[in-house]
Amino acid sequence: MSDQLIRHDTHCRLCGGNRIATVFKLADTPMEDQFVIGPLEQPFFPLELALCEDCGYLHLPHIVSPEASYTDYVYVSSLTVGLTHHYDQYAQKIINDWAVPASALVVDLGSNDGSMLASFKRQGMQVVGVEPAASIAARANQAGLETVNDFFTAEVAANITGKYGKASIVTANYMYANIDDVTEFTRSVARLLGPDGIFVVETGYHPEQMKIRMFDYIYHEHFSYFTVEVLQHLFAASGLELIHAEKTAPKGGSVRLVAQLKSARRSVDPSVGELIGEEHASGMRDAETYRKFAREIADAKHQLLSLLMGFKAAGKKIAGFGASHSTTTLICHFGLAPFIDYLVDDNPVKQGRYSPGFHLPVFSADKLIADQPDYVIMLGWQHRHSIMAKHPLMNGTQWIIPLPELQIV
Ligand SMILES: [Zn+2]
Repeated sequence: MSDQLIRHDTHCRLCGGNRIATVFKLADTPMEDQFVIGPLEQPFFPLELALCEDCGYLHLPHIVSPEASYTDYVYVSSLTVGLTHHYDQYAQKIINDWAVPASALVVDLGSNDGSMLASFKRQGMQVVGVEPAASIAARANQAGLETVNDFFTAEVAANITGKYGKASIVTANYMYANIDDVTEFTRSVARLLGPDGIFVVETGYHPEQMKIRMFDYIYHEHFSYFTVEVLQHLFAASGLELIHAEKTAPKGGSVRLVAQLKSARRSVDPSVGELIGEEHASGMRDAETYRKFAREIADAKHQLLSLLMGFKAAGKKIAGFGASHSTTTLICHFGLAPFIDYLVDDNPVKQGRYSPGFHLPVFSADKLIADQPDYVIMLGWQHRHSIMAKHPLMNGTQWIIPLPELQIV
């Protein structure tokens, strides 16, 4: 089964070059978000980060087919709780900054449950979403947010323009890294855009994430780890021009980019050159930068494991907080499963399920009060401040914070 699902690219998916350097080899990992209802056997797939030394594209060379990820995608994985405000601001800012005409067409690609569409609709825009997961697309349609249930292709772009006309805004919010043939995808975006339309991408930004040692953003659904420089080339190869780039806060560091058709008239603002300059200065095209990062993560792992071995030898009971893509990468790469009795998470759809591969049971956080473990490893450490505020530990239970610095609190 796993052989049919996986493809190993030995050439760069963007430039076709073959000078591909493996820069970070992680532990083999099951599909990171497949929390299952029973202890099913699940395949583990290679998880490596590779750098194209010709164009600087940082990517996974092993691709597990998107169908494998999405067919079992039975719930809203990126729960939008708390993001409504972020999306409202996002929609308002884009409309204001780029002087988009009122009631123009907005198309959101990977529209999930329609939260972003709803924000644009509140601003008076006409909205259409494209979402490959059937149950989630159905939910958006029921909420009155018109959503095409499909992967975005040239054909889907043609159908949308046939029915609604060309788009003034196309958004791709935390999904651009999840696309296999991203050049073809971006060419289809160019077909969808009106003459003055803009394409707005927000995606995780590893130059910032690496500063806080956030390696667990690496997982099989993220095929690409984009720099602004790589995106500038990718857009240019697809009929678009990158005109603006800015860092944003979500996901431990993100970047928001705005592009237009090459024939459009806006000028490129200095933000693009500034961010590319920062990327060069911090060695983002240099394989050694990532290898050094991998060594730092290995040190963090050894520190944590020696602590946990001591606790386990002393008979301590240890739970883990967090059940997501990232926590699966963290558990697999650090080898944490033997130390953890169970996981807890606030997301009700994860509760009652088992973690991918190792089948640690997932409970609600109430379990920590009932069970009183000695330690809880903060697997969702990027969200530690909000988690710790919401879930004060009692009866002497302590948090173990694994990253960016190992801490017991
Ligand atoms: Zn390349």
